[in-house]
Amino acid sequence: MTPGELKALVRTIPDFPKPGILFRDITTLIGHGQGFAAAVGLMADKAREAGAEAIAGIEARGFIFGAAVAARLGLPFVPVRKPGKLPVPVLAMDYALEYGTDTLEVDPGAIHDDKAVVLIDDLIATGGTALAAVQLLRSAGGTVTRALFAIDLPDLGGAERLRTAGVPADALMAFE
Ligand code: IMP
Repeated sequence: MTPGELKALVRTIPDFPKPGILFRDITTLIGHGQGFAAAVGLMADKAREAGAEAIAGIEARGFIFGAAVAARLGLPFVPVRKPGKLPVPVLAMDYALEYGTDTLEVDPGAIHDDKAVVLIDDLIATGGTALAAVQLLRSAGGTVTRALFAIDLPDLGGAERLRTAGVPADALMAFE
């Protein structure tokens, strides 16, 4: 499957979740068996190159790609969760949204011995979500060697912010 064919599987929905926003929707990509397999395969290759010893995914769409990549490589999967979901005391990180704040949480025992962790989510926009996840994974004792996304929105600068924070970021496709 070519990069162009993969990109064509992403659906674009205008005015979701708010007027003026163009929502890039991976539902149609993961709903295409060959397309999903190709996306997971490409991410797994990149994670292997980055020396991944564990894969972390951000709830919820990062779980779809992240868990598939972890299983494919036979690596542990670390869920970066929305608040109140983990049944143990957690490491928590607040981060800014366009309006207000949100929180991500990680099990402090999820990563051992300075493991090389590759972070996965469906999409990077401003990078606020991924940066919060990076800080949490570092607090848990991991070294985040790469961040991988199905989609980059480069105009919003998130991948650049991640690189500045010391995490090389890579995506399967970009929407300008
Ligand atoms: P950021 O924190 O601004 O980089 O936003 C990225 C987060 O918001 C990711 O967890 C995405 O799942 C979600 N997100 C932002 N824009 C979109 C979009 O157009 N489609 C799907 N998810 C999005």
